[in-house]
Amino acid sequence: MRTNPTINPSLWKSLFGMRCPKCRKGRLFQSMNWGRPASFFEMKKTCENCHQAFEPEPGFYFGAMFISYALNTALFIAVWVAYSALVDEFSILELLLWIGISAILLLPVFFRLSRSIWITIFVPFQGKD
Ligand SMILES: [Zn+2]
Repeated sequence: MRTNPTINPSLWKSLFGMRCPKCRKGRLFQSMNWGRPASFFEMKKTCENCHQAFEPEPGFYFGAMFISYALNTALFIAVWVAYSALVDEFSILELLLWIGISAILLLPVFFRLSRSIWITIFVPFQGKD
């Protein structure tokens, strides 16, 4: 049976689109307000579509730190490989500077992505797949 992607978004689209893992429709996070950087880290309490709680228990997202750690490790390796390919000779301080800048720039993205991955591990999809 063919599924309609607009009705049943895929797992990957839901993960990277930071959608509710239960219905894959409601947004996990408040929209980003560039004038207020703290808004990058604000999650919604429940899904606007299916009312799934986005913090099922206190400290639920503690484990998301491990996902964030893995994402940052991948970033460090990617920056190191890219910088080695682009620049012939560089100091370790230059490399650490570029790793630091890229980690700070991607902090909101990795924060949201690690939480999206974490909640998707524990809350099963209950739509039609
Ligand atoms: Zn939902």
